[in-house]
Amino acid sequence: MLDLSHARNRMVEVHLSRRGIHDREVLEAMREVPREAFVAPGFEEFAYEDGPLPIAEGQTISQPYIVALMIEMAEIGPGDHVLEVGTGSGYAAAVMSRIVERVYTIERHAGLAETARRRFQELGYDNIEVRTGDGTKGWPDAAPFDAILVAAGGPGAPLALQEQLDVGGRLVIPVGDDPHDQRLLKVTRTGAATYSEEDFGGVRFVPLIGEQGWPESGNRIANDRPSGRARTRSLPEMIAAAAEPLPDFDDPAFGKLFDRFGDRRVVLLGEASHGTSEFYRARAAITRRLIEKHGFTIVAVEADWPDAAAIDRYVRHRPPRANADPPFQRFPT
Ligand code: SAM
Repeated sequence: MLDLSHARNRMVEVHLSRRGIHDREVLEAMREVPREAFVAPGFEEFAYEDGPLPIAEGQTISQPYIVALMIEMAEIGPGDHVLEVGTGSGYAAAVMSRIVERVYTIERHAGLAETARRRFQELGYDNIEVRTGDGTKGWPDAAPFDAILVAAGGPGAPLALQEQLDVGGRLVIPVGDDPHDQRLLKVTRTGAATYSEEDFGGVRFVPLIGEQGWPESGNRIANDRPSGRARTRSLPEMIAAAAEPLPDFDDPAFGKLFDRFGDRRVVLLGEASHGTSEFYRARAAITRRLIEKHGFTIVAVEADWPDAAAIDRYVRHRPPRANADPPFQRFPT
């Protein structure tokens, strides 16, 4: 069994504390709950990287930072009753269960709900109730809630959820016109029929599918857009809008543009432009940046063996082959 407690502590320090999560109870709960118990088999070693990971039913276990941010935004505390919509792996519910009195969590996929229920049992987390269903309708018989967290992005904050908040209660939900691109909102119930709203910036969640969310087809971004809207921009216009000017390859600013991929596990450097001098120079500059500034440790290449073998001998501290032709004398040099 992997001992991941060191990695868990490091995640809390590097990915949460240093990025502005300060709520001590949230940090302690995330130090306590073994995220490796909530990822799909085979993904345990990646449990403490700050990224979402795939789980069954094409869903994801959310990025630790986002889990911590949403829980901090919800301002939960001991004695609270909290509703979560989108149980997924069960990880966020487990973290909240270490802080509050009771967690109610709803998942639309019965298989995910069942797996989460089993995990809670195995870990002895007995203050979590799991239900299969459409969470956009809330959990009326357990309402009102001190906080409601929605782990999937909807077109708006479902009315049923707003109504199931206690006065002073907080609803944290990703909301946006695009099923895969949202703003993270905190809606606070300030009175019987009054609410205030704060925007915590752009996020990207799987779609909230249900009566007060997206229809089932909300999974397909392109088809969700009215066709008229998609035709209003030509292909060259779309390329122009997405294109970014690049500085010269030797300019340090060139590598910096790729810092956005610095937290990825795997970066694939494309080969559509394979063979051009620009492709090789750009690839070298990007690779160098990812190694030097972001600690990448493996470079996998599909390369000609006679030349690659020379590198292979070098990195493995083996002597050069006697009488071999000097490497890299042929294309591509
Ligand atoms: N909180 C989860 C965790 O810690 O693993 C991550 C949840 S995942 C990002 C979002 C989940 O919301 C998915 O499992 C998806 O099936 C679920 N979901 C989407 N729409 C839903 C709805 N209307 N009711 C309940 N669950 C829903």
